[in-house]
Amino acid sequence: MVMTKHSIHNLEAIVKQARRDIIRMVHGCQSGHPGGSLGCTELLVCLYFELMQRNDHFDLDGIGEDLFFLSNGHVSPVFYSVLARADYFPVDELSTFRKLNSRLQGHPTTHEGLPGIRVASGSLGQGLSVAIGAAQAKKLNHDNHLVYVLMGDGELQEGQVWEAAMYAAHNKMDNLIAIVDYNGAQIDGATNDVLSLGDLPRKWMAFGWNVIEIMRGNDIESVISGLRKAQASTGVGMPVMVLLHTEMGNGVDFMMGSHKWHGIAPSDEQLNLALNQNAETLGDYIA
Ligand SMILES: [Mg+2]
Repeated sequence: MVMTKHSIHNLEAIVKQARRDIIRMVHGCQSGHPGGSLGCTELLVCLYFELMQRNDHFDLDGIGEDLFFLSNGHVSPVFYSVLARADYFPVDELSTFRKLNSRLQGHPTTHEGLPGIRVASGSLGQGLSVAIGAAQAKKLNHDNHLVYVLMGDGELQEGQVWEAAMYAAHNKMDNLIAIVDYNGAQIDGATNDVLSLGDLPRKWMAFGWNVIEIMRGNDIESVISGLRKAQASTGVGMPVMVLLHTEMGNGVDFMMGSHKWHGIAPSDEQLNLALNQNAETLGDYIA
């Protein structure tokens, strides 16, 4: 069982390196989604390096460990970076992102056989349902570990999410922690302009979920304390919803404060600007 504990300083170093990975991967193939990836970097790093109980060896059964499902699969750059940095596969494989025959396709899929990937994702709205199935399997197997799932906030416009929300509460899925990347933005603009999400905390509460809001989702200590609170809220008959306020493009000044970088690759010049804002800490992958 691997459960290495890292200091905040070490987690910050991993976050910086993951940001470099994300920017270099998207630049390298001139395709992909840097904005949401950068916004979720602290979350993914804290989950994999601090909060989740993970086994050394990856297998799809996932018995005896916490599980993570990525529902908003387009933020694959941050997922691939964190998996590689957590030793699921070689770091240099990040250079193959979105290339022909790579295991690191734009949206993660299981049939590529990449360790760490448990479900194909990209068609939005499905990941919560998958995570509920896994959480139910854990209960049936008397496996006392948690299931995490990350969704985008724009993704909540999908109807399947709310069917799953009802199902999870009805079935008392209290080993499930769902997280929403609450950045207020989606591919076509602000969620409030595209299709307003309304009062999200009250909506999830009304659906029978225990709701925890993390107001500073790009601050490592806030993420850890909020998710520890979420962990402490499991096991009491209700699924747990974490509304994580983040900033799209976080850590790269010209990508922040706009939905424009949802799915745009940086130029050579922009790459250098972004890398200059995020010093190399763990060693860049070889391009
Ligand atoms: Mg969003």
